Amino acid sequence: MRDTHPELSVVVPMYDEEEVLPIFFERMHPLLDGLGITYELLVVDDGSRDRTAALLLDAAKDWPQLRVVRLLRNSGHQAAQSAGFRRARGQYVVTIDADLQDPPEIISEFLHAVREQDVDVVYGVRSDRSSDSWAKRTSARLYYRLMCRLVGKDIPFDAADFRLVTRRVVDAVNALPDDGRVFRLVIPWLGFPSAEVKYVRAERAAGTTKYSVSKMVRLAFDSVTAFSAAPLRLATWLGLLGGGMSGLFVVGALVIKLTGRSIPGWTSTVLAVSVIGAIQLLCLGLLGEYVARLFQSSQRRPQFLVGYDSLTDHGHQEPVH
Ligand code: UDP
Ligand code: MG
Repeated sequence: MRDTHPELSVVVPMYDEEEVLPIFFERMHPLLDGLGITYELLVVDDGSRDRTAALLLDAAKDWPQLRVVRLLRNSGHQAAQSAGFRRARGQYVVTIDADLQDPPEIISEFLHAVREQDVDVVYGVRSDRSSDSWAKRTSARLYYRLMCRLVGKDIPFDAADFRLVTRRVVDAVNALPDDGRVFRLVIPWLGFPSAEVKYVRAERAAGTTKYSVSKMVRLAFDSVTAFSAAPLRLATWLGLLGGGMSGLFVVGALVIKLTGRSIPGWTSTVLAVSVIGAIQLLCLGLLGEYVARLFQSSQRRPQFLVGYDSLTDHGHQEPVH
């Protein structure tokens, strides 16, 4: 039977995960049943193009706690989590990836920590990243270091999107006015008391990464522009530097002219033009990032569109902000 207010909602964003899905359910089902609390497993199908949706609906037939929410189009990992947060009904909400890199067994440790320690957030923190490539480890280290500075709070290093939060946190996140939120930054930024549980991140159980390089770059840009105008200031400093350099060029050219020496060849001119051009373009690019953000938020477009929710829907469309 479905419980209208389960104690626990487990939110899983899935994009083209047909390969890992059967293994994921096989491990998840006995585990959740064994927790001894009421739960819903809320899978947000992020516009998958493969058989994920069909497999989900099939599995839901004899698993009443499995709830399927399908987004109409691929809206990205963060948007899928937003959709999950909006729809989850549990007192506790755990987010976990579908690929079993985050061991679901840790969920019971999360529950233990939140009950024992009077906190609202329990982060899963990777104690070992050896399963990731060197490039991923290095870019991740840079990312977290930068984010700590920008958010102005301690972001738990190597805490991705495997965590438990209480209803208070879910409501606070849902009440935020801005879209395009990056969960791993917004949640520490809210400042609720938190605890950490260490775990070892496994290899992806099946299939390939759904985080393309362009999606990672997007996440990085969203992370920075959501929290800081520092790059805009960097643009100002670069602009000043460029201005100073061109000033020096002018003075140099004047001195050369006045001392009657021959004007240097066009190479230096080309060099100067390209340096200044590059700086200008960089500044314009940074401005563009912020303007794009303003533009997007002023449009107030829904970040995702729910096509189907196995709990309430029979296929009709309902935009959710
Ligand atoms: N994901 C998603 N939408 C996307 C990309 C990824 O819902 O556009 C999901 C994906 O199915 C997985 C989670 O986000 O459950 C993390 O993705 P992945 O494991 O591919 O990322 P990685 O571990 O390689 O960083
Ligand atoms: Mg993964």
